[in-house]
Amino acid sequence: MKKHNYSAGPCILPQEVFKEAAQGILDYQDSGLSIMEISHRSAAFVDVMEEARNLSLELLGLQNKGYKALFLQSGASMQFLMTAYNLLNKKAAYLNTGTWSSKAIKEAKLFGEVIEVASSKKKNFNYIPKNYQIPSDVDYFHCTSNNTIFGTQIKDFPQVDAPVVCDMSSDIFSRELDFSKFDLIYAGAQKNMGPAGTTLVVIKEDILGKVEREIPSMLNYKVHLEKDSMFNTPAVYAVYVSLLTLRWIKNNGGIAAMEKRNNEKANLLYKEIDRNPLFKGFAEVEDRSAMNATFNITDESKKEAFDKLWKDAGINGLNGHRSVGGYRASMYNALDIESVKVLVETMQQLEQQS
Ligand code: PMP
Repeated sequence: MKKHNYSAGPCILPQEVFKEAAQGILDYQDSGLSIMEISHRSAAFVDVMEEARNLSLELLGLQNKGYKALFLQSGASMQFLMTAYNLLNKKAAYLNTGTWSSKAIKEAKLFGEVIEVASSKKKNFNYIPKNYQIPSDVDYFHCTSNNTIFGTQIKDFPQVDAPVVCDMSSDIFSRELDFSKFDLIYAGAQKNMGPAGTTLVVIKEDILGKVEREIPSMLNYKVHLEKDSMFNTPAVYAVYVSLLTLRWIKNNGGIAAMEKRNNEKANLLYKEIDRNPLFKGFAEVEDRSAMNATFNITDESKKEAFDKLWKDAGINGLNGHRSVGGYRASMYNALDIESVKVLVETMQQLEQQS
């Protein structure tokens, strides 16, 4: 039975990528060796790393614009710390839109003054704050483009005089943006880019070198840049599968085509959430995420019946995060619209049963 995978991350990746990735484990490019057992310094793997870094920049439209890409380890959570370590001299501005922003703020406070320019915490992060002021004398402004847990997404980014740092873990490569407005973008691979184990960091090089503190080598972006993301052994397999996924994005029309598909999927599901009296969306309509749709059931007595319906239909990973409850449908790039149709049908079946 076909599975419809709505997991929030790690999550669905394209079937073609899984097939090629599996082949790479058994015999990488007819070499008689697995991609897992060759040296990260071998020409074969250096090519993988180079192509992954270049293709990331190409897809984002950031080639030849002073940006470099790195594939680091320790997840996006390490970037909460590294961004502040490398960029925060005196004070930084943070927009608090959820759990991940709050965690980034906590780490940054270890390095300097943090100005929380706005927060949607009082309403359990069900909207994106707007019309806030960002002081012009901050070292940088940090925001989270898509809030995986609460299902909100920034649609209009503020004009900022300082460098802009953005956690794009759950919507990178899913929609077109003017990425040159950002000075540092980071994203854990395990949503739209690949398996868990590596994190893409895209840096405009001229923002570095401005803090006075000593930075340990492994936490220093300059060290990783000087070594072309090979300062130490990278997460070779995670980088390889990320490369296969990046190629899949390119071969399927790039970010523009991903965005079109993602909007179609999100529109279909939100339309049903709004139409069906048994369901209610969690996030404010204007801030709804195209990646993670959060919604609740209006009649708790029907929860058991609904859970059976979607599980019987082969749907996986629909339970909401514990801090929101209800349901969360994560519709990353690799999820087909057919899977969304199946979910919508189960919602309609529940209504018919009532
Ligand atoms: N930021 C966002 C927006 C996330 O969704 C996540 C993980 N789901 C993280 C950061 C943390 O990522 P990691 O687990 O790779 O540290």
